[in-house]
Amino acid sequence: MSSSTSTAPTVPLNTGVQMPLLGLGMYKLCGGEAVLQAVDASLAAGYRAFDSAAVYGNEAELGRALKELLPKYGLTREDVFITSKLGPNDQGEGATKGALHSLSNLGMDYIDLYLIHWPGTRGLDVTDQRNPGNRAQSWVALEELHAQGKLKAIGVSNYTPAHMRELMDSCKVRPAVLQVEFHPLERQAELRNVCRESGVCFQAYSSLGRGELLTDPQVVQVAENCKRTPAQVLLRWAVQQGVPVLPKSSNPERIRENARIFDFTLSDSDMGKLSALERGHRFCWDPSQVV
Ligand code: NAP
Repeated sequence: MSSSTSTAPTVPLNTGVQMPLLGLGMYKLCGGEAVLQAVDASLAAGYRAFDSAAVYGNEAELGRALKELLPKYGLTREDVFITSKLGPNDQGEGATKGALHSLSNLGMDYIDLYLIHWPGTRGLDVTDQRNPGNRAQSWVALEELHAQGKLKAIGVSNYTPAHMRELMDSCKVRPAVLQVEFHPLERQAELRNVCRESGVCFQAYSSLGRGELLTDPQVVQVAENCKRTPAQVLLRWAVQQGVPVLPKSSNPERIRENARIFDFTLSDSDMGKLSALERGHRFCWDPSQVV
């Protein structure tokens, strides 16, 4: 088997399950044909994880694509790792219904990882004091569905260190994963420490800065040094630190390119050059104001 068709390596979660270090990001991946083509290229390139969400509107398309494509690769449902997320409009009393809706959209008996997408609630101001109660209620709902085996692992996304500490103090089931924006411009030192101390897997999103980091002169220079592409060095920078990544592409050639990150190593000097780009810059939403 060539390196480009090997299955991506995994990291252990605190549930005892292994999660792939590489998954296909699915934000803005819409339309049955586009999803089918991207999932096909991903499975062929060794991806075994897919990151969807209720708000992406593509859970049903992902479920249908997998049903059609898994047999083509001699795979079964157990061979893939499916993540989805509770939308901010279902935060609080709508959480059980929202999660069950994700399951029915996907057409699956269980979801491997289900995340609270955002610490706030749709329709409430970020400073609204009902936000903490709503996310606590969502967590209890996810714990119950986890106990029933419908959500194999549960976690959170876009939580700040304060949101994480609040959850750790009240939860019965510890979150398995925290998914946040992570790339050389936003290294999330404090959140990584919180995760390390609490046994939570820290997972990156927007590793390519939504495409904008691919032309950063320092990133381009490191890529030229090691004869790789800017996307590959950005993804390698994360996985070399043990951080799982979720590059999004709808382009089969780029999907393959983004999977070829486990057959080279960045030198300490190149890792350092990328890490030195830190300046607390985000390309996505900022949860720091959510109480
Ligand atoms: P990203 O993966 O950083 O970047 C995606 C962009 O880069 C797309 O425009 C894509 O275009 C382009 N691209 C991908 N590979 C490329 C390559 N090799 N060469 C050139 N261009 C390339 O952005 P993202 O979608 O924000 O983040 C990734 C995933 O993380 C999301 O899809 C989602 O699953 C997850 N995420 C989660 C949250 C959250 O709140 N939990 C927030 C953001 C993202 P093409 O499609 O045209 O290739």
